[in-house]
Amino acid sequence: MNQQIAIKTQAEIEIMREGGKILHECLQLTADMVKPGVSTYELDKFAEDFLRKHDVVPSFKGYHGFPATLCTSVNEQVVHTIPTKTQILKPGDIISIDCGAVHKKMHTDSTVLVGVHPLSNQADSLIKNSEDILDSTLNFIRDGIYLNDLSEHIEKQIHRHGYNVVQELTGHGIGYKLHEPPHVLNYKEGTGRGPQLKAGTTLAIEPIFTTGNGRIQTLHDKWTIVTADGSLASQIEHTILITEDGYEILT
Ligand code: MG
Ligand code: MG
Repeated sequence: MNQQIAIKTQAEIEIMREGGKILHECLQLTADMVKPGVSTYELDKFAEDFLRKHDVVPSFKGYHGFPATLCTSVNEQVVHTIPTKTQILKPGDIISIDCGAVHKKMHTDSTVLVGVHPLSNQADSLIKNSEDILDSTLNFIRDGIYLNDLSEHIEKQIHRHGYNVVQELTGHGIGYKLHEPPHVLNYKEGTGRGPQLKAGTTLAIEPIFTTGNGRIQTLHDKWTIVTADGSLASQIEHTILITEDGYEILT
């Protein structure tokens, strides 16, 4: 995998900080709306209006023809689920809300995972463990780490909690494009350490895994990806900047 990994300028980073702050607010407010009886369409409508009000462009809308601002994936839905008026949240559901934003040509991308209470023990611990997996992944990041070491670390965190990686879905570089080099795999690939990651690199880190065997299938709408075994799925994501001594969360 020979990939040109862009180092961002201070000006580009500042723009990503600004855009990421708005995206963070958008996702927090959208997550606050999650309760029984709310449709995923309502979440999408709110998020789109919020971003546009702040002069930020929803980046998923129109991306390869995707029709919405958010991907709202519930329970066994893993990623890329189109919000609808008929998908109504109910107690016990978990939902990942994934959103991308473009601010002054620079992209940021983030996902929150929230539950509709009361939750089963399995769903409740999946949410807590997902936050823990993302935290311990971010704490591994600093100037000079190797990409495949990072992937190995993510995989170990996921396995530590007894979950399995969805290998087809990965994190990514991000900047002038939503998806830039490198692919940030959530599992160790091969025996090499991969390219070294330098301060000034911006990545979307998104461990994606399931409580089952990690296998997936795509539904007839050609977007929604679900777990093949019907198990619960998790996606949680931040856009981050690698710094000299660690990382900075931009979303
Ligand atoms: Mg995303
Ligand atoms: Mg992403």
